[in-house]
Parts: sequence; structure tokens; C-alpha cells
Amino acid sequence: MATPSLYDILSTPYGGRGAFAREAIPQGTMILACAAPYAHVVYWEFRREVCAWCFAYSFESGKSKWAVKLAGSEHVGGNGGVWFCTDVCRADYIREHEKMLAGNSKRTTAGLAVPPAGLVYLETIVPTDITPEYLDVAWAAARDVSDQRRGWTEEMTEFEVDTARFVLDGLLRKIIEEANPGAEMLDRLVDDTPGYCVGAGRWADYMELQDNEYALMYTNPHMLASHIRVYRFLRHITTMLPQVRSKLNEKSVHVIEQLRKNLATPTDTRALLGRDSGNVFGLWDTATDEGSEMLGWGAFVFGSYFNHHCEPNLKKKRNKRGVEFYASKDIAPGEELCISYADGVSVEERMQQLESGWFFVCRCTRCARDLERASGTPSI
Ligand SMILES: [Zn+2]
Ligand SMILES: [Zn+2]
Repeated sequence: MATPSLYDILSTPYGGRGAFAREAIPQGTMILACAAPYAHVVYWEFRREVCAWCFAYSFESGKSKWAVKLAGSEHVGGNGGVWFCTDVCRADYIREHEKMLAGNSKRTTAGLAVPPAGLVYLETIVPTDITPEYLDVAWAAARDVSDQRRGWTEEMTEFEVDTARFVLDGLLRKIIEEANPGAEMLDRLVDDTPGYCVGAGRWADYMELQDNEYALMYTNPHMLASHIRVYRFLRHITTMLPQVRSKLNEKSVHVIEQLRKNLATPTDTRALLGRDSGNVFGLWDTATDEGSEMLGWGAFVFGSYFNHHCEPNLKKKRNKRGVEFYASKDIAPGEELCISYADGVSVEERMQQLESGWFFVCRCTRCARDLERASGTPSI
């Protein structure tokens, strides 16, 4: 993992880890630039309007959609929703993915399409108290059932399809890493300001993030069925390989074989989804205005060490594929570096947002002040 020079990752007094200033940091200083997400997804409905490389939103440029498309033969995912704002972005995307791109012009038809609507839902009996053991049993059952299943008959929501695309993005990156252990990803070649600029990270870096699977399932039991459906869908796609093999080129077959091996157990899918909750950032249509349209989400691994404070000392700004973090005020040595995850004005609103999205109760100074005021207790 890259070592950022302005802060240390340390245990916090309230649990988990956080980033603490190593020295005094003046307002406006760039603290960290993450060049790209480890895994991300642009919502299916925005795939024509958001550049697949730089995340530029076509409406910001006065266009209803982008015109530069990735030909089916160039991508293992077929032409499943890959458009670009310019040929330059298309070329960068291809360079990044070239290790798994096809070398010939045969058509690739194993794209991740929206599955046909069906009527069969995953049956789950959710106990009143979900335990970690119950999660293991449910996932093991998911693997067994998908071994027997032929054809795809379950219905997925659009959100589940997008979640599947996020997982696929992460799994593909892991597969590329494993095939090229020494190779630097294009995303990582950004170290012109050492210590500040980091790449997308590696699988091991992603695994360092807090796994929130249990917290999510405990508070939202229906998400267990949803995640299992996502896994089974991805697994189903890779089991279609024998039927479509003749239509694929060699490299696509290789990648799908690797995916199939990976999806033989739900381990990596669970690991990706467990860290998706509470660690990812939304991709918004403007760099800083988070009140606008959310176009997708991404796991900017190194940015996830910044904890929440309702009066943060950092602000974040998206820069193309990357996210940058700046000091929004002067920061003293030893101070924890925080961003704000919640935009609620009232303390009640923020608490609701933080509990449902990040599974914690905020005890920051602003919340303490607001609560005191609300309860009428005079502050001393
Ligand atoms: Zn672009
Ligand atoms: Zn707070």
C-alpha cells in the first residue's frame, strides 16, 4: 500500500481505523488523490451518458449521449454498455484493459445483458436475528443451488444488475492482477507527487477495508437474498461458456474461465459486496455538488480511511476517474482527518443517514452540540 506522507493510519479511540495528521496541514492542501476506483459501476440507465473512462456526463457538455462506442470484439463484456466521450478516453480504456482484450475480430457475445424477467424469486426465510453462522449457511446453500440450476429464471432489479456489474468489475481487476503479478496498472502510474497520489490499489488493499456484510444483513435482512441473487446471476453467466465458446476469441474464453473458477465459491463476491457497503463513494454528475444526480458508485480504496465528522476538515472533489481530498481548514498535528458522509441539516436527519448507510451513531462535536440544544440542556 502506498504510504501517504501527510497522515498515518491509526486505530481510533472509538473503534476501527482512521487517518491522523502527521504535521500541521494548511487549508487548501491536497491530502490525497486516488487516481481511480478499484471497482465501480455506472448505473445501467446512464451508460450512454457517462464516459466509461473519465465519467464525464454528456448533459454537462450539452449532449444527450456520447457517440464513441467500444466495439463488441474489443471487450470481454461485449458491447454491454461501454461508451466514451472521446476517442482518447476510448484508447485509455483499451490500454487499461488490453491484458484481457481480444486479439482478433471475432464477435464477443457473452455480454452482461439484463436478464430476462422471470417469476421465480429466491426463497429466504429470514430469522429474527441474523448471525454470522446463518450467513455462511445461506451462502453455502446459494452455491449448492446454483450448481444444479439450468437457465436463468430469477428476476433481478435494475439495482441488482448494477451491483452485479460492480462485482464483475472488481473480479476482472483481480483476475488481471493475478495474471500479471508484476505489471503496473495504468491507474497506478500517477506518482508524480509521491505520497499524495495513489492508484486504484490492489485486491489486498481493497481487502484491508472494513467488511460490513454482517452489519448490513443485520439491519437489512432482505439484502442477503439480493446479494445471493447477484452471485448466482454472475455464476450463471460464466456457466454459459460452453454454449457460446465457438463465438468467442481465445482471450475472452480465458477470462471467462478465470471468472468461472473464481465464482465456484462465493468468497470473493462476498468480500467485494461486504466492503461495498459503507466504503464506496457516489459518482456524481458534477465534481463537488452532491445534491445533484448520482450516476453510479466506486470503491476509492485509500479514500475510505477518512472517517465521518459532521464538521469535516476535508473536502473531496472528483477529478475524472479519480477523487481528490483537500484540507478545508487548517489542521493541527494529530488531528483526525475526516470527510462528511451525511448532508442532513438536522441532527436527526444525519443520524438516520449514518445509521442506515454506514451503521454507526455519530458522536461528533456538532452532533453533541445539536443534541444538547434540542434537549434544552445548557451547554457548559
Ligand atoms: Zn471520457
Ligand atoms: Zn456528527
